[in-house]
Amino acid sequence: MEVRTTYDGLFVDGGWRTSAGATTAVVNPATAAVVGTVPEGTATDLDAAVVAARRAYDEGPWPRMPQAERGRLLRRFVEVLDAHRTELARVITAESGALPWLVESTHFGLGFGRFSHAVDLAAGELDSVTPLKVGAGSVLGGTALVHEPLGVVGLITPFNFPLFLNLSKLGPALALGNTAILKPSPLTPLEGLVLGAAAAEAGLPPGVLNVVTGGPEVGERLVTDPRVDMISFTGSDRTGSAVMRAAADSLKPVVLELGGKSALVVREDADVQHAADIAFASFTLHAGQGCVLLTRHVVHRALVDDFLDALATRAEAAVIGDPAEPGTTMGPLVSEAQRRRVADYVRIGAEEGGEVVCGGKPVDRDGFFYRPTVIHGVSPKARVAQEEIFGPVAVVLPFDSDDQAVAIANDSRFGLSGGVVSADTGKAWEIARRLRTGSVRINGGGTAPDLAAPITGWGASGVGAEHGLTGLLEFAQPKSIAFRAG
Ligand code: NAD
Repeated sequence: MEVRTTYDGLFVDGGWRTSAGATTAVVNPATAAVVGTVPEGTATDLDAAVVAARRAYDEGPWPRMPQAERGRLLRRFVEVLDAHRTELARVITAESGALPWLVESTHFGLGFGRFSHAVDLAAGELDSVTPLKVGAGSVLGGTALVHEPLGVVGLITPFNFPLFLNLSKLGPALALGNTAILKPSPLTPLEGLVLGAAAAEAGLPPGVLNVVTGGPEVGERLVTDPRVDMISFTGSDRTGSAVMRAAADSLKPVVLELGGKSALVVREDADVQHAADIAFASFTLHAGQGCVLLTRHVVHRALVDDFLDALATRAEAAVIGDPAEPGTTMGPLVSEAQRRRVADYVRIGAEEGGEVVCGGKPVDRDGFFYRPTVIHGVSPKARVAQEEIFGPVAVVLPFDSDDQAVAIANDSRFGLSGGVVSADTGKAWEIARRLRTGSVRINGGGTAPDLAAPITGWGASGVGAEHGLTGLLEFAQPKSIAFRAG
C-alpha cells in the first residue's frame, strides 16, 4: 500500500474510480501550504458507491461470510495500516495538525484498539436461544435471538481526529457484516482515502468499503439516499440536527456523536496545581478541537484566583507551533475559518463582561494558531459559557456549594463529558453521579481508556452510542426467530 497525498479517484467497488469532480486542495494548518489534492465527489460518484455497497451487501459474500473469516480480513486491514505507521503519521500531522503523541495515542493506539475490539466483540456470543418451552397445544418450542447486519451504512466524520473516528465507525460496522460508504471531512480527506488502499491490500471484497470525499452536498445525498439503511454521524450539533431531519423522510436510523461544552468541577479541597494541570491539558488538547474536552471550569470561589494564576502560567509556557517541530506542545486550529470563529468568540466573551486572563490573540506566524485563552467573570448563561467554541478557550465559573457546582455544570444544552477534582473521592463520586453527561473523569482518571466504555451524549451531545458493545449493536438489527421443536 502506498500512503498518498494526491488522488484523482475515489475508492469505489474495490478500486479507484476516476472522478469528474473538482480538485480540492488539502492544506497543512501549521503552514497554510497545500500538501495534497483530492477530488470533490459528485452525485455520480456517490451513486456508484451506493450501487457497489448495495451489491456487496445484497449479493456479495461479506454479510454471509463466517464471522471468523470476516474477522481475519479486518485484522489484516489493521495490520496493513500498522505496517505504514511512519508515513501515515506524517500525513495525519500534515493534514490535521495533530502532535506526534496524539497520533500515537489517539489515532493509532485508540483507533486500532477500538477497531480490533469491535472485531473481537462481534466474534463473541451476541446471539442466544431461550430454553425450550411448552406452548399452546402442548407444542414444544423456543426462540432464538440473532443480530443481522443492518445493510449499507453511511459513515460521516469530522475533521478533528479523522483516522481515529473513521476507524471507530468502520470497526463495528464492518465486523457485523454491513457494507459501508465513508464520507470524511473535506478538510481531512486523506485519512479516509488511505483506508481504501488498505482495504484493497487486505483483500476486503469489492464494495464492502467505499470512500467518497466531498462536503455537505455529498453528506446530504448519502443521508437522503433510500438505498442507504443507516447513518452514523460525528460532527457538530447543528449538522447533526440537519442529518436527523434529512433522515426522517426515509425513517433511517441515525447515530449522532455531537459536540460538547463539558464542565470540570474543582472542589474547595482540591489541589489547585493538580486541577490546573487537568484543566489546561484538556482545553488545549489538539488546540481545543476535541468533543469531550473540559472547557467550562467550575471552580470553588476560594480557589479561583490561584486557579487563574496557575492556568496563565501554563499558557505562558506553552510552545505553540508546527507539530512536526520537536518541542511543540500545542499545534494549530484546522483552518483560518476556525481561527476566526475562535477570535469572534473571544470578542463576544469580552462584550459579555469577561476578563481575558491570558491569550486572547492569534500567534504571529504562518498557519492557523491561536493562544490558549482563559475567560473569567462571565455569567454561566453567557454565550462563551454555553456554546461550543472548538478552540483553546476555557471559561472559569465560580461556585460556593456542591449543589451550585452541579447546577452550573448541568446548565448546558450539551452533556458529553465532565470532570471532578476533589481530595474526597466519595464527594467526587456523588457529583459525578449527578452530572448529566455521558462520561465523567474523577481526579484526572481515564488516561488509560477502557475500550469497552461507550461514548454517549445527553441533550445536544448526541443520539445513540459509539464504542463498546452498546456502540457495536447500533449497527445490528436484532431479530427473533421462534421455532417449533420436533
Ligand atoms: P461538521 O458538523 O461541520 O461536519 C462533520 C461532517 O459532516 C463533515 O464530513 C461534513 O462535510 C459533513 N456535513 C456537513 N453538512 C452536512 C449535511 N448537511 N449533511 C450531511 N453531512 C454534512 O463538524 P466538524 O466541524 O467537521 O467537526 C467538529 C464537530 O465534531 C464538533 O462539534 C465536535 O464536538 C464534533 N465531534 C464529536 C465527537 C463525538 O464523539 N461526540 C467526536 C469528534 C468531533
